[in-house]
Amino acid sequence: MSKLLSPRDIVHSHLCIGCGSCAAQAAPEARMELDAYGELKPAGKTSWFHHRSEKFTATCPFSPQALNEDELAARLYPDTSYRDAALGHFQTAYVGYAAEDDFRLQGSSGGMVSWVARELLKKGLIDGVAHVVAVKDPQEGGRFFQYRISRTEEEVREGAKSRYYPVDLCEVLSLIREVPGRYAVVGIPCFIKAVQLLRQQDPLFRERICFTLGLFCGHMKSARFVESFAWQMKVPVSEIRQVEFRHKDPDRPANWYNARLTLRNGQVVNKDWWHLSDGDWGAGFFMNAACNFCDDVVAETADISFGDAWVEPYSSDGKGTNVVVVRSPVVEKLVADAIEEKRLQLDQVDARFVEQTQAAGFRQRREGLAYRLTWWRKGVQPRKRVAPDQHTPITRRKLIYRMRYQISAWCHPVFRLARRIKAPRLYIRWAHLSLALYQGLAYHRGRIGAFIKRLGAERE
Ligand SMILES: Cc1cc2nc3c(=O)[nH]c(=O)nc-3n(C[C@H](O)[C@H](O)[C@H](O)COP(=O)(O)OP(=O)(O)OC[C@H]3O[C@@H](n4cnc5c(N)ncnc54)[C@H](O)[C@@H]3O)c2cc1C
Repeated sequence: MSKLLSPRDIVHSHLCIGCGSCAAQAAPEARMELDAYGELKPAGKTSWFHHRSEKFTATCPFSPQALNEDELAARLYPDTSYRDAALGHFQTAYVGYAAEDDFRLQGSSGGMVSWVARELLKKGLIDGVAHVVAVKDPQEGGRFFQYRISRTEEEVREGAKSRYYPVDLCEVLSLIREVPGRYAVVGIPCFIKAVQLLRQQDPLFRERICFTLGLFCGHMKSARFVESFAWQMKVPVSEIRQVEFRHKDPDRPANWYNARLTLRNGQVVNKDWWHLSDGDWGAGFFMNAACNFCDDVVAETADISFGDAWVEPYSSDGKGTNVVVVRSPVVEKLVADAIEEKRLQLDQVDARFVEQTQAAGFRQRREGLAYRLTWWRKGVQPRKRVAPDQHTPITRRKLIYRMRYQISAWCHPVFRLARRIKAPRLYIRWAHLSLALYQGLAYHRGRIGAFIKRLGAERE
């Protein structure tokens, strides 16, 4: 191993996603804490934070010395039928939903994640699932969501729905180490990569973590996203009891996201994302800086991964539809049997179909990443599967990548200042202006869009 790294090296290079794998390996010396920007970062003894080690260098998902997704997948799934540039190694891909019970209605998309987790438990293949649930009293612990190990069907189903909120694996990994059993872990791509890197290094985790369920990922948000919801819905953050990022309404298109806050007095307030100043996913508000250097959209190192079918007619179906990519033979059989028994409504699709459902994500993580890799940056240099390239993107796309990068970088300090001086309007106005610029550039929307069009920034 050439250059050893410490948690400090990764954090100071803006490459820490906050997964907590390093803290779990160093507990009780280390822990995960929300920082001033509402992002989880490793904390604890200074000596640990500064210590450069082989273990950390090989297991941090953003370490340039760790195995990459291709190398991991080649070891984990050597016999899959397909090896695709977008989806990685895979056996089968589907579009559809869980037809059994009300998994679909309770899930964010087609309810497939909760269904597979429940099925693994029901078939006795695992004893517990590490996934994300709402905390009982968010005002007490200062966080709205956390990882938990669920051991019953009821507990698994309590976790349904996507949480665009910082969470970490530190505690659940420590629990898995302490309590013998067979576990499944649900996570976004970099978290699953962290788990697989840990399994490569540590036989205990290799034996106990038997299944990995990956979520496709656009990017991870900071905890301030929820505070911004509260500011824009004009309710005190201190009164929020429950947060729903995507309230499901079967009568509205699935991609019309509606955010919903339940207050301690039972009052419910909600707003559609497109009425929020920071509700355009593509603009990158509250994005973790490490996401700029990720090249895995579909959790390529997971036994099975799940996303939303963001193409018509599925995106207009408010009941929600998954795209699913299967890699492990055991999970493949589980899914195939349930299709046969009509407990799952899934149609087989090819890699291009799945890629198309995540077109924007792939642009940002392939062409956009290649462009970002040409920019000068200090600290640890990421090692990615795409080569630096500043020639392929047209001028307008380069401007979009730069604007998204700037919005995500400036969002944190602007929100922090507004929070400190208790001036929500400062942030909301800044976000509003940034959004108008972004949408003008990206979709030629509004007066700014017309102006940009006139400037002819479309030139190649
Ligand atoms: C940060 C984030 C970004 C995403 N970006 C995209 C994207 O760009 N494109 C896309 O198609 N899909 C994306 N997804 C996935 C998508 O939102 C759905 O989670 C996925 O389609 C599964 O839906 P479902 O109905 O099958 O799952 P459900 O049945 O609703 O179950 C969801 C499961 O995921 C767990 N979970 C929820 N949030 C988290 C989390 N933050 N970390 C780990 N586990 C969690 C829950 O505990 C539950 O077990 C993203 C998810 C997250 C969390």
